[in-house]
Amino acid sequence: MEQAVQQHAAIDALNQQYAGRFRLFKGIEANIRADGTIDMESHELRQFGFVVASPHSLLRKSVDQTARMVGAVSQPGVAILGHPMGRKYNIRPGVTADWDQVFDVAAARGVAIEIDGSFDRQDVPYALAARALAKGCLFALDSDAHAHPELTFADIAIAHARLAGIPTDRIINYWPEKKLVRWMKERTES
Ligand SMILES: [Zn+2]
Repeated sequence: MEQAVQQHAAIDALNQQYAGRFRLFKGIEANIRADGTIDMESHELRQFGFVVASPHSLLRKSVDQTARMVGAVSQPGVAILGHPMGRKYNIRPGVTADWDQVFDVAAARGVAIEIDGSFDRQDVPYALAARALAKGCLFALDSDAHAHPELTFADIAIAHARLAGIPTDRIINYWPEKKLVRWMKERTES
């Protein structure tokens, strides 16, 4: 959290410098614990514009983890369910869950489902994204870039969104600033 305070000061300075040209938002990725809670306190969550909750553990188990994932999208303050399966090609299969049930709750709460475009993740893939679309979910497209050259992985996320037939008004990346800010605020107050 001490680092986040420094980052936020740097972001504020950039936003002031480039006002009207671009704006950086203050987001963070939190871990989903085994019990479906996330590893941040509510007063910590409130310091960010949006929170992505993602599974980073128990990704090699074949047991059903529906309750864990439903818990994550039900958690107040969560805006996006990040790389929901947590799979990686040739490494691990990721979370097993009744995804329709998870998507139902996410749709009801306005939590967006991430399509992570990292080539070894592709998570959720287009077939699963199409099921989330049918359930009424919103989506967030993302490169999962850990360095500048990886920003192009966003193209893979866009490809999955197109194959799933997701209209742009259901994808938060395509929203005008006002609509995005309103949605983020509603999520932090949920
Ligand atoms: Zn992650």
